[in-house]
Amino acid sequence: MECIFCQIVAGKVPSEILYQDEKVIAFRDINPQAPVHLIIIPKNHIPSLTHLSEAQLPIIGRMVNAANELAKKEGISESGYRLAINCGKEGGQLVPHLHMHLLGGKKLSDELG
Ligand code: 5GP
Ligand code: ZN
Repeated sequence: MECIFCQIVAGKVPSEILYQDEKVIAFRDINPQAPVHLIIIPKNHIPSLTHLSEAQLPIIGRMVNAANELAKKEGISESGYRLAINCGKEGGQLVPHLHMHLLGGKKLSDELG
């Protein structure tokens, strides 16, 4: 098993797990870009948004729901936050396991790309 995020799901690589249900897991980013920087992933290995089948679409809703709950827990629900999914090389995706970034706790850059 080479995928780093699959290894986190399996508990083989330590991480600060902040949320977990049967389909989704969330942990703190190892190299935070903002005071709050969490990673939300499906437990199943899906390489990227491009690989998402129609049957797998509901996982995105579950990830957004987890992110909204985590934003409340982290105290940034009112101040605001950003959810980002990078896809592919030019989209800036480095880890080939679908993931959503939850960023907040400061005024984020106005630039998206
Ligand atoms: P990407 O650039 O693929 O959208 O984002 C991957 C993110 O995963 C990066 O922000 C990076 O810091 C984070 N990351 C990579 N490896 C690990 C790890 O082993 N543990 C944790 N907690 N985060 C990681
Ligand atoms: Zn994986």
